[in-house]
Amino acid sequence: MKPIDELRTLLGTDAVLDSAADLAPYLTDWRGRYTGCALAVALPRSTAEVAQALGWCARHAVPVVAQGGNTGLVGGATPDTSGRALMLSTRRMRQIRSMDTANDTITVEAGCPLQEVQQAALAHERLFPLSLASQGSCTIGGNLATNAGGTQVLRYGNARELALGLEVVLADGSVWNGLRGLRKDNTGYDLKQLFIGSEGTLGIITAATLKLFALPRTRVVCLVACPNLAAAIGLLHRARAAAGLSRLWPERRTGRNLW
Ligand SMILES: Cc1cc2nc3c(=O)[nH]c(=O)nc-3n(C[C@H](O)[C@H](O)[C@H](O)COP(=O)(O)OP(=O)(O)OC[C@H]3O[C@@H](n4cnc5c(N)ncnc54)[C@H](O)[C@@H]3O)c2cc1C
Repeated sequence: MKPIDELRTLLGTDAVLDSAADLAPYLTDWRGRYTGCALAVALPRSTAEVAQALGWCARHAVPVVAQGGNTGLVGGATPDTSGRALMLSTRRMRQIRSMDTANDTITVEAGCPLQEVQQAALAHERLFPLSLASQGSCTIGGNLATNAGGTQVLRYGNARELALGLEVVLADGSVWNGLRGLRKDNTGYDLKQLFIGSEGTLGIITAATLKLFALPRTRVVCLVACPNLAAAIGLLHRARAAAGLSRLWPERRTGRNLW
């Protein structure tokens, strides 16, 4: 049996595409700056199928390129021109596995678009604060693999700070299950941090447990002209003191109300 037929047997015929027309959308980056070639595109539906695909890659020495929403701007989701790589798209893995309102966490599959995670949180009166202009297309797996920042990064942090647990398939096809929602976790090495920001080089993220926050009570938008950098930093400190977590007890902390 040819190796590609073996992959079809493992994942199903509709989950392995190799015609030029089917491959084309996966081979060029969002800005149209890079175009590569690939052996095929695999579209697994589950963590077990990602494991099967990576096991197949390991057995046949096939390089693999992960792709989520393909909105990355640095060519990381585009294969090289050798045509040897298997593209592994997480598009079909977009389920919200669970919502834990007691722990303020949500567990989602890697191919879930960022906007769907935000909406699921909102439906439970919670905020998932990661927000980028590409949020309708980019995926949680891609956000974590690139350690995305977005518009609220100063208040809530990068994707790294929003992840409590990950499930990852390693290059040999084994599954690393670090999918936990424990906030005070001081048990040894924090291995998930190795995968966050590693752009798919250490494994394929298949699911994540993410932190949710209380919805902001009000939103105020201001256009402020700062005369210099020092004034802008001063403004940031004042805004944080007035509207950040320390807003809860400003009088106790400083003896006066900052507003
Ligand atoms: C209009 C626009 C605005 C943007 N704004 C921001 C911004 O404010 N801040 C910011 O940080 N970025 C921004 N980006 C860049 C981009 O949207 C982010 O990097 C996003 O996180 C990529 O997600 P994706 O699902 O599209 O990943 P892809 O582009 O598909 O992949 C990106 C990288 O992650 C890897 N990867 C994807 N999925 C997985 C997975 N499941 N496991 C392992 N590796 C994986 C890929 O191999 C590749 O290296 C913007 C892009 C656009 C087009």
